[in-house]
Amino acid sequence: KGQLVIGCVLLQTILVGDSGVGKTSLLVQFDQGKFIPGSFSATVGIGFTNKVVTVDNVKVKLQIWDTAGQERFRSVTHAYYRDAHALLLLYDITSKSSFDNIRAWLTEIHEYAQSDVVIMLLGNKTDMSSERAIRRDEGERLAREYSVPFMETSAKTGVNVELAFTAVAKYKTVYT
Ligand code: GDP
Ligand code: MG
Repeated sequence: KGQLVIGCVLLQTILVGDSGVGKTSLLVQFDQGKFIPGSFSATVGIGFTNKVVTVDNVKVKLQIWDTAGQERFRSVTHAYYRDAHALLLLYDITSKSSFDNIRAWLTEIHEYAQSDVVIMLLGNKTDMSSERAIRRDEGERLAREYSVPFMETSAKTGVNVELAFTAVAKYKTVYT
């Protein structure tokens, strides 16, 4: 409401994590505010989506890249990481293996991404609490260990989805 908006920052953001954790669903929920049940085809990547958010009077254009399912074969290319300013790293709270693989993803990220990349750890699918395999405090502890912010989300209900993307924009603009 009559706020002064200064310029526009472009923030290249990528989604990372095991196949099936909900990366594409999270992006669709953020972009279109809806949840499409069922797996997205591994070969039909949605490429990238542009979304503008306003953080402390600064317009931030998030250009969010989604994989086309390469993570299934552990062949996410180095180029995918190279230009990223921010990164959402997801696991599925009902999948212990997706949580255990976070360390491997972080190793890869530290190897290939820019050293000042902003990383946000997300435990997705909180709506499936009856099948929960990873407690919230386990996620929090892992995040603390790597000094990254942490949130639990649901691409299905939309819980914390907007907040997660806005937070990434905020961390990048405010703290780096
Ligand atoms: P990706 O491989 O990481 O891109 O994962 P997808 O977005 O394709 O999602 C994999 C499966 O999990 C699909 O069946 C989705 O409908 C489902 N899914 C994704 N996010 C959620 C969520 O937050 N809650 C529930 N219940 N299912 C989800
Ligand atoms: Mg996908």
